[in-house]
Amino acid sequence: MKSETCLGKVSGKPLNSYYSEFEAQSAAEYSKNVYDNELAPYKCQRCDYWHLSPKCRMTPSQKCSRCTSAIGEYKNSYPTSKEARLRASIIYDEKGIELEVYKCRYGNGWHLTKTRNY
Ligand SMILES: [Zn+2]
Ligand SMILES: [Zn+2]
Repeated sequence: MKSETCLGKVSGKPLNSYYSEFEAQSAAEYSKNVYDNELAPYKCQRCDYWHLSPKCRMTPSQKCSRCTSAIGEYKNSYPTSKEARLRASIIYDEKGIELEVYKCRYGNGWHLTKTRNY
């Protein structure tokens, strides 16, 4: 079933929607077996169905060797601001968390940080 409300960020085409996590998970496994394309199901906040989101394949990330997050883990680093923004929009779709993109001050690509509420 194609979503009427949700479009893919990259393709601009309607996302596939699934009624249940089980259904989404089987579609993800099918895609992995047939297309070698790893997908992760997530529940959409907007339409209340399940969609599939590419598993980090589209947004390759590395760990920064210098910057740590609030919980002391090394931050993910993205090679370009475009990829960082793409990842931020996926996180926003999946979790409803707004993230800002900023350039690493040690030159290790781009990071995401939670939007500060002033
Ligand atoms: Zn949706
Ligand atoms: Zn950094």
